Amino acid sequence: MPVVHDVLIVGGGLVGACLALALQRSGLSVALIDAQPPQPVSTGADWDIRVYAISPGNAAFLDALGVWQRLDPQRVQRVESMMISGDRPEGRLSFSAYDAGLRELAHIVESSALQRALYQAMAEADPAHPAVAKRAINLEVAEDCARVELADGNLLQARLVVGADGGNSWLRQAAGLEARITDYQQVGLVANFETAQHHRGAAFQWFRDDGVLALLPLPGRRVSMVWSTTADHAQTLLALAAEALAAQVEAASSSVLGSLQLITLPAGFPLRLAHVPKLVAPRVALAGDAAHNVHPLAGQGVNLGFRDVRELVKVLAARVPGQDCGDRQLLRRYERARREDIVTMGLGTDGLQKLFAARAVWVSGVRNSGMAAVDHLPFLKNLLIRHAAA
Ligand SMILES: Cc1cc2nc3c(=O)[nH]c(=O)nc-3n(C[C@H](O)[C@H](O)[C@H](O)COP(=O)(O)OP(=O)(O)OC[C@H]3O[C@@H](n4cnc5c(N)ncnc54)[C@H](O)[C@@H]3O)c2cc1C
Repeated sequence: MPVVHDVLIVGGGLVGACLALALQRSGLSVALIDAQPPQPVSTGADWDIRVYAISPGNAAFLDALGVWQRLDPQRVQRVESMMISGDRPEGRLSFSAYDAGLRELAHIVESSALQRALYQAMAEADPAHPAVAKRAINLEVAEDCARVELADGNLLQARLVVGADGGNSWLRQAAGLEARITDYQQVGLVANFETAQHHRGAAFQWFRDDGVLALLPLPGRRVSMVWSTTADHAQTLLALAAEALAAQVEAASSSVLGSLQLITLPAGFPLRLAHVPKLVAPRVALAGDAAHNVHPLAGQGVNLGFRDVRELVKVLAARVPGQDCGDRQLLRRYERARREDIVTMGLGTDGLQKLFAARAVWVSGVRNSGMAAVDHLPFLKNLLIRHAAA
């Protein structure tokens, strides 16, 4: 009979790999599987088009796990301020790390570099760690453990199976957990640019008629763009030659960083909202995009996932000696503890998205004057910053 692991994690993206490492560090026996081997890491001149704004709280967690130190500091950018513009001149909102008493609002990190750092840390902690490139295809939950069948016919057994297998989570469906999905009919278009002027650690965001445009600072005179826009507009932008796309982005960003030069091929990702009312089932828990999908306008998707990891690790570490990792009470505790953060972020990003997608003139007035009002309320601004920085 195969061994029974404490925890089997299905999905070795950023969230699954981080969970595997953290649980491994806490002394549990962990198995991690992913349908694909880790993606190659861009080095040298090429910048990964997938970059994430990682919150200071999650950066500190990754630091404590020995992951953050493995990132090349020359390729990590601190965000010190953020300027948000509405679709009328009065609609302005700015955040500053200095005003909030923080060193930074976020760190911008390349996805592939973070993934590699996680896998390196895992391999170093346990060279025999079974990060197997295999797809899970079948789940069977028994009284004392759960069994997961792999595409190659092998079987893995664990007290608890965690689904960190992304937005289309196989485990979520296999465990019968419902997901309420809203397709935004939008695409998040990403690309990196060199800029004529230095960003000085500022991130910019514009709520526009055609969606939400964000420029996140990368080291040097570079930025990463996320333009969340209608599928048709995204297709039009993707079909443009490099100079024409750069000109469109420069115009849409009011030339705030001067002229732009495209340095990576653009790519588009469909956007959707997923509300998953129950995060746990017998011997099953969900984390990361398997547990929630939010609009990227707040740069919080993977941050929510890392906070799931922090909570699950905390709950499992606090179990009484000999208590089964799949214990129903433990899983309920995890679900309860994560509910508020996930619901707040889902509603908040969805509400903002809808507020700015509305065409009515009165709505436009309310949203822009609302931004201006928040800008004059330091207490509320600090609350918003503290939530995003966690
Ligand atoms: C345009 C855009 C910009 C974004 N910007 C930000 C940002 O700035 N900050 C932020 O916090 N978030 C951001 N996000 C969100 C972020 O991309 C996701 O939240 C994050 O990648 C989710 O990670 P994950 O590990 O949960 O899932 P995934 O990265 O989807 O990983 C899931 C893994 O599971 C594996 N898998 C799937 N099925 C199986 C199976 N049956 N068996 C085995 N393995 C399986 C897959 O191969 C994959 O490796 C952005 C998203 C978009 C679209």
